Amino acid sequence: MSYDDQNIFAKILRGEIPCKKIYEDNFVLSFYDINPQKKIHALVIPKGKYVDLDDFTLKASPEEMVGLFKGINIVAKKLGISSEVGKGYRAIANISDHGGQEVPHLHFHLFGGESVGKLVG
Ligand code: 5GP
Repeated sequence: MSYDDQNIFAKILRGEIPCKKIYEDNFVLSFYDINPQKKIHALVIPKGKYVDLDDFTLKASPEEMVGLFKGINIVAKKLGISSEVGKGYRAIANISDHGGQEVPHLHFHLFGGESVGKLVG
């Protein structure tokens, strides 16, 4: 699938749509999900134009890959849910149709602030 510049997260990245920002650096933007499924529900997205995790894995630079995973850890720490400073969380990325992905810009969901159980969905 080719990247759709009109997807909602592309618009958030361009500042065309507001978000409740948690963190931003050269590689990632993080903000709260508009429809939280757990006490804490954050999203972490790469700044590059990647449709999903497979697209990212195939095309992203090593720096972008490190930047995304470091970004997840920074956000989790900032929210007080990382295993280092808190009680942990679940990070998931939905991928394409069978993965239930709705927004075609790679994003990790961070669920925490309470026990999230064995499975999501
Ligand atoms: P997906 O199903 O693609 O993995 O997750 C997309 C997520 O984006 C959903 O949890 C949905 O609530 C969230 N979302 C959709 N539109 C917006 C928006 O405009 N702002 C924010 N903050 N989240 C959104």
